[in-house]
Amino acid sequence: MTLDAAGALARDANDPLARFAEEFHHPHDAQGRKLVYLGGHSLGLQPTAAAKYIEQELNDWRRLGVLGHHAAKRPWIPYHEAAAAPLAALIGADADEVVAMNSLTVNLHLMMVSFFRPEAQRNRVLIEKSAFPSDRYAVVSQLNFHGLNAAEHLIEVEARPGERHLRTEDIVARIEAEGAALALVLLPSVQYLTGQSLDVAPMIAAARRIGAAVGLDLAHGIGNTPAQLHDWNADFAVWCSYKYLNAGPGAIGGCFVHERHARRIDLPRFAGWWGQDKTLRFQMGPEFQPITGAQGWQISNPPVLSTAPLLASLDLFQRAGMGRLREKSIAMTGFLQQLIEAKLAGLVEVITPRANDARGCQLSLKIAGSPATAKRGYELLTAAGIVADWREPDVLRMAPIPLYNSYSDVFAAVDALSRALRR
Ligand SMILES: *Cc1c(COP(=O)(O)O)cnc(C)c1O
Repeated sequence: MTLDAAGALARDANDPLARFAEEFHHPHDAQGRKLVYLGGHSLGLQPTAAAKYIEQELNDWRRLGVLGHHAAKRPWIPYHEAAAAPLAALIGADADEVVAMNSLTVNLHLMMVSFFRPEAQRNRVLIEKSAFPSDRYAVVSQLNFHGLNAAEHLIEVEARPGERHLRTEDIVARIEAEGAALALVLLPSVQYLTGQSLDVAPMIAAARRIGAAVGLDLAHGIGNTPAQLHDWNADFAVWCSYKYLNAGPGAIGGCFVHERHARRIDLPRFAGWWGQDKTLRFQMGPEFQPITGAQGWQISNPPVLSTAPLLASLDLFQRAGMGRLREKSIAMTGFLQQLIEAKLAGLVEVITPRANDARGCQLSLKIAGSPATAKRGYELLTAAGIVADWREPDVLRMAPIPLYNSYSDVFAAVDALSRALRR
C-alpha cells in the first residue's frame, strides 16, 4: 500500500475496527467542516452512547429520587463498580485491585498517604525530571507534609546529556544506588511529553528489591499501551479517564492497589464511609472496617453522572478488544511516522522512540526553526482543521486513536502540516 491518500484509503478499507469511528461524535468547525481530531491523548472524543447513559441516570433520578440508589436501572450505590472489571482488563489486574474514584491527582495523594511512609533513613522519592507538573507538585507537597524537602529528598532521573529518552538501565541503576534511602518510586507508564513508553517491569522489580514502595501514573498509558499491573507487582497505580478512556472532561479517575495489600489494616489511609465494609456501611456504626481490596480506599459515594460516560466508553473497549486496538495503533502510528519521514524531512524531528514497544499512539514532533516559526506552523495547522496539541516552545503532539481515527485522518494531518510548514 502506497504512502499517499489512496494508500490511506486502502488501509481504511482493510481496517476491521473502522466502524467504531461511528460510535463517536467528531468535532466540527464553525462552518460545519469535520475536524481531523488527533488530540485524544488530552481529551478523548465523546462516545455517541454517552448521552444515553447520562440520560438514563437523569431519568431515574427524576422518576425515583432517592429510591434510585437501589431501584435505578443501574443502581447508584454500586454504580461505579461496573467499571472495575473492564478497567482491570485494560491494565492486567484483577477486578478487586481496581476502583473508579476521584480524579488522578487526588488518588495520587491518597495512595501516597498509604504507601509513602518515610522513616528516619528511608525518606526519598524518585520521579522523572520531566514529570507532569501535577505529579511533582503532589510529591513535593507530600514531602513537605512529612517535614521533608525537595532539595534533599526528591530524586529526579533524566535522559543522558544529548539523549531524549529515559534508559531503563539508568533508572534501575539509580534505584539501586539510592537503596535503603528510597521510600517511594513513582513513574509514568507513558511519558506525556515525549510519548515514551517505559519498560517499567525491571524498574518496579528494582524498587521492590531495595524495599521501596512503587507506584505508576497511567494517565497516558491506560487504554493506550498494554500493561500487566498485577504481575509487575507495583504497589499502586492511578489514572484519569478523560484521555484515552474517552470518559469526558473531569471524568471519574481510577486507582489500582495490588492484591497483596487487599487485607492490610496496618496501612494508614484517609477513610470515608464509602470505603467501609459493605455489610456494615449502612449500619452507620462508629468504627471503620475497610472493604478488602482497592474499594477500601474509597472515601465518598461516586459521582454517577461523571461515571456514566466511562461505562459507555468501556463498553466500546470491550467490544473492540485491547489486543486489536493495540495492533491497529501500532500500524497507524507507524503510518504517521512513515509519512512524516517521507513528507516532512528536515522540517520536523520525531522525538518519540521508534520502537513499537517504546511508544503508544502518540508521536511528539519537534518543529525545526525558531520558536516563532514553529508556533506559526501550529497555528496554520489548526486553521486547516487539524486538532493537535502544542507544548511550548516547539513540540507538537498528535495521537491517532485506534477507536475513532482513520488512516485518512493521519494522511490529512501530515499533508496539512507539510503545507503549514512550507508557507
Ligand atoms: C493528565 C495528567 C494529570 C491530570 O491530573 P488530574 O488530577 O486528572 O487533573 C496528572 N498527571 C499526569 C501524568 C497526566 O498526564
